[in-house]
Amino acid sequence: MAEPAESYKGMFVFRAEGSIEFQLGGFIIGPQKGMPHEYGHRQQEILLGPYYLLLIGTTSAFGQIFLREHREAYYAMWSERWADELGGMRR
Ligand SMILES: [Zn+2]
Repeated sequence: MAEPAESYKGMFVFRAEGSIEFQLGGFIIGPQKGMPHEYGHRQQEILLGPYYLLLIGTTSAFGQIFLREHREAYYAMWSERWADELGGMRR
């Protein structure tokens, strides 16, 4: 179960075990492996508003389902590369 941990650039961070990490409404939930990346997703959410879930959320969900065993391919998707770029995440 997730428990409150800390903040990252004004976002609330909840540590949760597992391989999935996501950002929604300024909250990061996950194993805290890619905070700059999730910060990039927050910037996307601010830019896209309600389209964040529609565009980024569905693309991510698609990737989680079909590219689960292919991390490089997952992070090469446009939505993920863009989050890396916005958040300053280096891979
Ligand atoms: Zn992502």
